[in-house]
Amino acid sequence: MESFCRKLPKIELHAHLNGSLSSSTLKKLGCIEESIDKYQTINTDLKEVFSVFKIAHEATNNMENLYEATRSVIEEFAEDNVVYLELRTTPRSEETMSLDQYIDTVIKAIQENESSKIMVKLILSLDRSKAKEEQARTLDVIIKYKNQYPNLIKGVDLSGDPAKGKFFNDLFVKARENGLRTAIHCAELKNDDEVLEILKFNPDRLGHGTFLHPNYGGSAEIWKLYLAQNIPVECCMTSNVICLSATSYDKHHVQEWIKEQLPFSIATDDKGVFKTTLSNEFQLLYDNFKCSQLKLWEICNNSIEYSFASNEEKAFLKLALDQWKTKNIKPEIK
Ligand SMILES: [Zn+2]
Repeated sequence: MESFCRKLPKIELHAHLNGSLSSSTLKKLGCIEESIDKYQTINTDLKEVFSVFKIAHEATNNMENLYEATRSVIEEFAEDNVVYLELRTTPRSEETMSLDQYIDTVIKAIQENESSKIMVKLILSLDRSKAKEEQARTLDVIIKYKNQYPNLIKGVDLSGDPAKGKFFNDLFVKARENGLRTAIHCAELKNDDEVLEILKFNPDRLGHGTFLHPNYGGSAEIWKLYLAQNIPVECCMTSNVICLSATSYDKHHVQEWIKEQLPFSIATDDKGVFKTTLSNEFQLLYDNFKCSQLKLWEICNNSIEYSFASNEEKAFLKLALDQWKTKNIKPEIK
């Protein structure tokens, strides 16, 4: 099954650039062993995860390193047979790099990716811990770049420490009006008022969705609204277990989405921080919920629909997955 999960052409819809740096990439960027260990050793809660991002930010605080980090992350996803990647990152300025230069550098690394094995799109994030004015300024820059690179910059995300800041509906209405798709981190912590506000906005996708289902801390009102909206959820099992928002893999909320045939995709979140791969996340689905090969393939195939790729790109990816299925999966005998 391990080799099946590796060979399966996968769709990654929730990967943060600065959380996806492998130890070999960090080494290349000049990180010392002690910092690399710290980046990869989390076993408490979400708070600690956000503290390790400082290490990644230091490692990518200039254009040269940021370019190399982006290039390496794409290459590693391609090696894991991810055929479509939506990489997300929060644009930031540094001493030697403006906000615009940050975005330009990431775009350049994506455009110069030579692998024909992987299609890459970019989602730019607003950091919820920042003041509204700052988020609004970042959004204006994102819209400017989206107009310049409409086939590359596909969406906007709300991310960062869920214990800080809030969701500003009007910013996401503006993003939507400007043609950006929306993928919003939602219900990573129990925060019913905010969850309801996000669900009412009806984003294209939700990140995590941990406290949505009533068995996992969601209220009846939240679940009713979620079912009415039927929004695809990006499920990140290892991330949730390591950050203790899921008690164990076999108790992860993704099982409700499987049982009730609700829309979801499987994602790594921060493959560097959590020492995982997308293949490993599919293996976890098999190990814990006995998903068949066909079911795992279907999750990838459905994720194409939830992606922000164009209709032509979706058709191309679906054809590739269909061809792979014909060659690699025997029809199930009912
Ligand atoms: Zn995330």
